[in-house]
Amino acid sequence: MRRLCCSLVFLALSALLVTADDTARPFRVLAFYSTHAEADHVEFAEQAVRFYAEVASRRHFTLESSTNWDDLTPQRLKGVDAVLFFNETPHAPAQRTAFENYMDNGGGWIGFHAAGYNDAGTGWPWFVRFLGGAIFQGNSWPPLPATVEVDDRNDLLTRHLPARFVSPDNEWYSWWPDPRSTPGVRVLLTLSPSNYPIGMKETITSGDVPVVWTNTRYRMLYVNMGHGDKIFTEPVQNIFFEDALVWAAGRR
Ligand code: ZN
Repeated sequence: MRRLCCSLVFLALSALLVTADDTARPFRVLAFYSTHAEADHVEFAEQAVRFYAEVASRRHFTLESSTNWDDLTPQRLKGVDAVLFFNETPHAPAQRTAFENYMDNGGGWIGFHAAGYNDAGTGWPWFVRFLGGAIFQGNSWPPLPATVEVDDRNDLLTRHLPARFVSPDNEWYSWWPDPRSTPGVRVLLTLSPSNYPIGMKETITSGDVPVVWTNTRYRMLYVNMGHGDKIFTEPVQNIFFEDALVWAAGRR
C-alpha cells in the first residue's frame, strides 16, 4: 500500500513537472506576410515584425518571420506554438493544407486585417468556417481612428483593457454573415456605434461590426487592425496585441 502511495505521488509529481517544464519552455512564433500586397498592408506587416520582435526579446520567446508562403509546411510548423498572418492568407493548396492540419491539431493563430479578407474568389471554405463564417462585406475609407468597445473585460485576453478605447487609424472591415451569430464564436472587441458614420469615400453607417473575435473551436484570434503605419501608436492596444500573442501561443 505504501509503495502504491509512493508511486502515485511520484506520478503526480512527474505530471506537475512535465506541465511546468512545458510552460517554462520558451515558445516559438512564426509570422508570415506578403511584400507584394497593398503598400499600407506591407507597412503594417513590417511594423508588426518589429513590434513583436521587441516583445519576443523582452518576454524571451522566439519570433521568426517569412515572406515566402512556401515555408508554410508541416516540417516548418513542427514545434511552433503560434502562427501569425500579418497581411494575407496562403493561396497554394499545399500551404493551406499544412495550415489546416496545424490548426486542427492544436496550433495557435492570429490573423490581422487583410489576413481575414475573403470573398467569392478565395475558394477556401475551410478558412471561412475557421473564421466563424465571416465573409468580407465592406470597409470604411480613408483609414480613421475609431472607438472600440470591449465586449467582456473578464476575459483573459481583455483583462488589461478599459471598457472602451480609441484604436488608431485603420481601415475597418464589416462582415456578413456576422460572425457573432455563429455558435462558438466569442467577440472580444466591437466597433462602437458612436463612430457611425465612419469613413468618407467608403462609409460604415450602421450595424454590428465585430473587430476582434475567436472561434472557440480553435486557439485562434482574428484582429481587424492592420492597415497603415499608425496601428502601434496606442499603448493600451499594444498591451492587447502582446496579451493576444501569449494567449495564441497557449500561455498565460
Ligand atoms: Zn487595409
